[in-house]
Amino acid sequence: MIIQDDEFGEVIVRKSPLARGVRFSVSTSGRLQMSVPKHTSDFLAKRFLKTNRKMIRENLPLKDPNEQRARDYQKKLLMKKAREYLPYRLEYYAKLYGYSYTKCRLSHANTRWGSCSSNKTISLNIGLMKLPEILRDYVILHELAHLNHMDHSKAFWAEVGSHDKNYKNHEKKLKHFSPGI
Ligand SMILES: [Zn+2]
Repeated sequence: MIIQDDEFGEVIVRKSPLARGVRFSVSTSGRLQMSVPKHTSDFLAKRFLKTNRKMIRENLPLKDPNEQRARDYQKKLLMKKAREYLPYRLEYYAKLYGYSYTKCRLSHANTRWGSCSSNKTISLNIGLMKLPEILRDYVILHELAHLNHMDHSKAFWAEVGSHDKNYKNHEKKLKHFSPGI
């Protein structure tokens, strides 16, 4: 459920069978998030919000509602760009170097640029669209090499190095950027 709040903007209410009391946190979009026990009524959830208003204001780093909306917009834009680019770029390199994967997923995790699962699904973060092309390509080549090596062994890095001679430098540069939006 979403509560429209004049001060905090959209407040995300999660009703969870595991929640014992009310707990406030900040979502990745900077919105207020409350988790409450499963059978909490909407009326009670709003009461919790009202009685904790001061504590929330003083303790939680929320984004103001305008910033929350700006972020949503930016994310939508990045997703659109990513959809039109990343799956094709991945396919291009896979063909070029003879890799086969099951599918390409687009993600927007805050911490990882990409991942490769044991069922050969490659996930690429839409935040890659903010990177210089050379680093974006490095991440793609890194994930492709994981199709053959599910670790960061010497053999893995040797394979990455065979497609990207400057991979060490690219790995280092990547640390200056964050995938979060
Ligand atoms: Zn890796």
